[in-house]
Amino acid sequence: MMLAMASLSANAQTLTYEDRFARPLNEVLADIQTRFNIRLKYDIDTVGKVLPYADFRIRPYSVEESLTNVLAPFDYKFVKQSGNLYKLKAYEYPRRTETDGEKLIAYLNTLYTDKASWEERKACLRKEVRMRLGIDSLMKKRVDNPKPILSKIRKYNGYTVQNFALETLPGLYVCGSIYTPRSKGKHALIICPNGHFGGGRYREDQQQRMGTLARMGAVCVDYDLFGWGESALQVGSAAHRSSAAHVIQAMNGLSVLDYMLANRKDIDVTRIGANGGSGGGTHTVLLTALDERFTASAPVVSLASHFDGGCPCESGMPIQLACGGTCNAELAAMFAPLPQLIVSDGGDWTSSVPTLEYPYLRRVYGFYDASDKVTNVHLPKEKHDFGPNKRNAVYSFFITAFSLDKKMLDESKVTIEPESAMYSFGEKGELLPESAIRSFDKVAAYFDRDVFAELKSDLALEKKASDWVASLDLNDDKKAGYVTTVIYNHLRQVRDWHNQHPYTTVPEGMNPSTGKPLSQLDRQMIADSAMPGDVHKKLMDGLRRALTEEQVETILDKYTVGKVAFTLKGYQAIVPDLTKEEEEHIVSLLKKAREQAVDYKSMKQISAVFEIYKTQCEQYLNSNGRDWRQLFRDYVNKRKAEKAAKK
Ligand code: ZN
Repeated sequence: MMLAMASLSANAQTLTYEDRFARPLNEVLADIQTRFNIRLKYDIDTVGKVLPYADFRIRPYSVEESLTNVLAPFDYKFVKQSGNLYKLKAYEYPRRTETDGEKLIAYLNTLYTDKASWEERKACLRKEVRMRLGIDSLMKKRVDNPKPILSKIRKYNGYTVQNFALETLPGLYVCGSIYTPRSKGKHALIICPNGHFGGGRYREDQQQRMGTLARMGAVCVDYDLFGWGESALQVGSAAHRSSAAHVIQAMNGLSVLDYMLANRKDIDVTRIGANGGSGGGTHTVLLTALDERFTASAPVVSLASHFDGGCPCESGMPIQLACGGTCNAELAAMFAPLPQLIVSDGGDWTSSVPTLEYPYLRRVYGFYDASDKVTNVHLPKEKHDFGPNKRNAVYSFFITAFSLDKKMLDESKVTIEPESAMYSFGEKGELLPESAIRSFDKVAAYFDRDVFAELKSDLALEKKASDWVASLDLNDDKKAGYVTTVIYNHLRQVRDWHNQHPYTTVPEGMNPSTGKPLSQLDRQMIADSAMPGDVHKKLMDGLRRALTEEQVETILDKYTVGKVAFTLKGYQAIVPDLTKEEEEHIVSLLKKAREQAVDYKSMKQISAVFEIYKTQCEQYLNSNGRDWRQLFRDYVNKRKAEKAAKK
């Protein structure tokens, strides 16, 4: 029966697919290159991909329509790079084209024509963004009035710096630094979420900006990204790639604001700002959409209508689906009529701001007769960074918005501290409190189960992959990281394919060899065996690129819980005089089983694959002059006799 299933599995694609006019995707793409005289750059895998109705998808009058039609069935897309060069990429849900941005903005503009209709839309966004972010249930679980761990205050020219570790959820800390002016009286406060620039919040340009704004009269607070800096001591750096990072970072920003307002007597509550670059700009906009205490905002090199931010900490929770579909430009418009600066440049996705997002923002601000309250500093020759011209734009903005002391504007007076000076928990995390959470699992427990089921499953697979790799004792962090990623990606693809293709996707039918109906397991095996072959190829190529053949085998044994050795032992016991030749043949069959079995999700399925090959082993023994049935009967009787003797 199992043999028949093997052939069923192999034929699953042809059984369930109509293959008329189908051609390999790479051939079709090569034809498009020639026909339209373009060049294609591949950031996708076309191995084994077959395109049904291939040539019918070509539009002779349009290369871009042809590419769209040909790539869409595989969730691929193209990006025009220059002239006749196109890059082929996997679909990215947070990133669209500038043309898409134009269409979205044009659509949004039809939704509101005056202050009243805009405020209705804004009320919807306020509610749904919170809901889709899942922030309210998390905020309810926060520690009441947490007492932060505060460092000694370090005094510099015109400002001071103090580190803090603030407990947000029980056992979870957000760490950062507070830059305070040395002048007397009430100060403005600027909350500064961070982006993904190398060096995190410890980097030089960040310290320069914090110190300079503080010297001019604004208390500035920055804090680590979730899973970066000292947060990594608690949850590991992989946690940053989870959608949990999106809501936790938002909660951190609001918690820092709550703490500052509740405990610092030197803050002027009418001057509360938000400012950050890149991912920090995304969070600047998000914070102002979540909390109405902010009175001035400056997102830098982040805002666009066609890009939500590519990291899960920016787009992991589906807030852009709020109210039928929104974008960061509309979330920024919610800040009207309060002062807002958009800093953009010519070298990243913000290059569209002067002609697209900025005019849109001016229109919404216009509903309040406040078009002049939103400004754009565009630096067409600059790239994606937080360089001097961007910082100067931010300084000028807050000097005006918060009446800061322009005379104190001098970056050269800021002291750049070493990274370790900015830690709350010591150089090696030795000061992390006893009660602190030390794994992401504990954090995930604070979330509603269904929302984070997939995330938890991801983390479990990542742990599995890293445990397997640890058993190799590679002594090479880079290599170990690479192999872990290869295995993790494979485990995830196998899981996702399995979950998206339940047994019910395979029609009921007869197993031709037994004449019995296909079982649930048979149908699930058929569904899973239709997974594209490049998933397996990527695993094997990746492992072989980094590991010795022996190490590759160790990993495959981990997948299949040592079934090759275990099954071989069985044959050695049942066939006491097994020859070397027979053993080699059996091992080669079992290794085939092992390599096939890694692409199945459950132990039941892995066993089923081995059953197929065990049947082959037994047929081989019979063809080699053995009588498998008799050998097996003898073995069972022998075991029975041994047991009886023991009694
Ligand atoms: Zn991120």
